[in-house]
Amino acid sequence: MSEKIFEIFEKKLEKLKQENLYRSIKDMESRKGMKITIEGKNYINFSSNDYLGLSQHPLVKQAAKQAVEIFGCAGGASRLLCGGTILHKKLEELLCEFKGTESSIVLNSGYTANTSLIPALADEEDIIFSDELNHASIIDGVRLSKAKKIIYKHADMNDLYKKIKETSCNGKKIIITDTVFSMDGDIAPLQELYEICKSEGAILYIDDAHGTGVLGQGHGAWKHFNLPKENFVVQMGTLSKAIGCFGAFVCGASSLIEWFINSARGFIFSTALPATIIASAFASLKIIMDDKTLIERLWQNTEKVMEVVKNLNIKTTDTQTPIIPVVFNTIHEATEASKIFNDLGIYAPVIRPPTVKLPRIRITISAGHTDRDIERLIEAFNLLYRQLHRV
Ligand SMILES: *Cc1c(COP(=O)(O)O)cnc(C)c1O
Repeated sequence: MSEKIFEIFEKKLEKLKQENLYRSIKDMESRKGMKITIEGKNYINFSSNDYLGLSQHPLVKQAAKQAVEIFGCAGGASRLLCGGTILHKKLEELLCEFKGTESSIVLNSGYTANTSLIPALADEEDIIFSDELNHASIIDGVRLSKAKKIIYKHADMNDLYKKIKETSCNGKKIIITDTVFSMDGDIAPLQELYEICKSEGAILYIDDAHGTGVLGQGHGAWKHFNLPKENFVVQMGTLSKAIGCFGAFVCGASSLIEWFINSARGFIFSTALPATIIASAFASLKIIMDDKTLIERLWQNTEKVMEVVKNLNIKTTDTQTPIIPVVFNTIHEATEASKIFNDLGIYAPVIRPPTVKLPRIRITISAGHTDRDIERLIEAFNLLYRQLHRV
C-alpha cells in the first residue's frame, strides 16, 4: 500500500507532461543587474517583476545590512506578540504618505494579504463582485470568505453594473479587482469602478501589486487615475514587485486597518517579516517617492519595445504597462518561439494554461535593463517575426 499511496499523483504528473503542462523549478546560480545564470547558461532576465531594479539598489541593500546588525535575522514571533520593530511602524507611516491614506499595515506576502484580508472584510451576508481575471490569491481569498461571490466579465462595467442591480444584498457589496492584470498587462477601469462604488454604496478593494512603483509616478493605479481619497477604498499592494523586496501592505481607513489587525488570520497567526526586509522596503519606497528617474527609464524601455511589437504586428494583449505578453494559439507554438528567445539568451519562460487561457511568453520590462539588453530583446522580436512569416 505505502508505495502505491502516491501513485495517483504520479499518474497526474504523467498526464501534465503529456499535455505540455508540467511545471518545474529553475533556480538562479547568480544574478547581477538583469543578468542571471541558470543551469550554467547566462541570460538577460525578462521575466522578473523587479520593474525598477530596486532589489539590487545599493541603498536598498545597505538598509538590509544595517537592520540585520541591529535586529538580527528575524523577529521570532508574530507582530502582535513581539516580532515587530519600530522599523515596521516607520514603514507603515511612509506607506500612508505614499498612498494618501489614514492608516496601513504590512503583511507577509501578497498571497497572504489577499487570503487574509478578504475573509476579514467580507461577512456571510455580504456579496463580493470579482473580475474574472483576478489574481489567484484573490480567488482563494474570496473562496475562504463566507460571502457570496459573483464573477463579472473582465473589466466589463456594463456586466458589473447589471449584476449589482439584479442582486439583492442585506450586507455589504464589495468589488474586488487587480489594478494591473498580471498576465495581460491591461489596467482596470478604476474611474468607472470608483463611480459605481460611490453610487451603489459599495466597498472597492484594489490589488495594486503591479501598479505600485509603476503607475501614477510610482504611487500606483489610484494616483494614475487621479482619484480622490475615499474611505470606502481599500488599497492592497505588494513590496515584492517594483519595490524589489518582499511582503505586502494594505492602506485604508483607520477603523478598517484596526479591524484587520484584530481579525486577519494571516496577520495574527504568522511570524512578522524580518527587519531586514522592512528596512530595505522603506529605503526602496523612499527612492520611488523622491527620485523619478528610474520610473522614467522603465517607461522609456517599455515604449521602445512596444513600438517594435506594434510595427511587427506581433500578437499581444491590450497591455498598457511594462508587462508585454506574446500570445500564441498553442503551447507548441509558444515553446517553439521561446527557443528563439532562449538561444539569444533572453529569459522569458512560457506561461501555460490554466494560469492563462492562451499560452504566452510573458516579457516584463525593467528600468534595470540596459540599452543593450533592450536591443537584444528587439533582435529576438525581429527573429520571431521572420519565423512566423517564414521570411
Ligand atoms: C504577485 C501578485 C500577488 C502575490 O504577491 P506575493 O507578494 O508574490 O505573494 C497578489 N496579487 C497580484 C495581482 C499579484 O500579481
